Amino acid sequence: MGALDGKVALVTGGGAGIGRAVVERYVEEGARVGVIERRAERVDELNAAFNGAVMGIQGDVSSTEDNRRAVEETVRRFGQLDVFVGNAGIFDRFAKLADVPLDKLSQAFDELYNVNVKGYFLGARAALEELTKTEGCMVFTVSVAGFFAGGGGTLYTSSKHALVGFVRQLASELNPTIRVNGVAPGGVLTDLRGLAALDQDAPPPPRPPEAVSRMQQPSDLAGCYVFLASKADAKHITGSVLDTTSGAWSRSITGR
Ligand code: NAD
Repeated sequence: MGALDGKVALVTGGGAGIGRAVVERYVEEGARVGVIERRAERVDELNAAFNGAVMGIQGDVSSTEDNRRAVEETVRRFGQLDVFVGNAGIFDRFAKLADVPLDKLSQAFDELYNVNVKGYFLGARAALEELTKTEGCMVFTVSVAGFFAGGGGTLYTSSKHALVGFVRQLASELNPTIRVNGVAPGGVLTDLRGLAALDQDAPPPPRPPEAVSRMQQPSDLAGCYVFLASKADAKHITGSVLDTTSGAWSRSITGR
């Protein structure tokens, strides 16, 4: 028996990276999964790969209408919604504030915050009514950059700090009906994209081998999303952001 037998989830940005690993693991655990994903070829791949247990929906998380449609189509196809996973995000490739030209800052800010912050608000709001019916839960991908400086530039780090507040406040507002938690990865081997406004939207440059050996694989994280979604295992957990960074909090104090 799977931890999520009979459950229905909606995952944002589930076409690659961490989201894709969560989708795979949720299916293994017995769930059926809707995915809102911006890139059409990833939507097609999802629709072909899981024998009907996954429905890819092309859309952009920064659109109210696309979030509304993703919830509606998931519920129409699978009958209910138990778990909302907010995950789609973009990066600023560690751009320092001083290095962002003033005439590009407004556009870069809107691009990053529209996905990383507004996308989570819109998705959560769109899923609220259905999750209330099932007394379901939400799980959000945050980041080590939600706790410390140095996990991104000012745009990315501040967006992930905002999400820690979002998780805590929303958990308080929805308690006890809907649990709300987050997962905070460190560096993960994905092709997380940068900002078009800063000409960073090509695939990330190759990483040096010593960096690769320290990084997490998306599949290392998927179990955290199963745990937090499981009513049996995480019944009394809400407002938490699970640190999966192998002790970044410790290194921030001791340097080890
Ligand atoms: P990824 O690029 O591999 O996967 C993200 C997916 O989201 C992609 O399929 C992309 O097409 C999709 N997407 C992006 N913008 C979208 C939008 N506006 N609407 C719909 N879909 C969209 O990246 P990832 O590393 O798996 O990132 C997932 C989350 O993990 C992000 O929130 C990121 O900030 C967070 N995170 C990543 C790392 C890391 O090192 N990779 C570390 C900590 C946190």
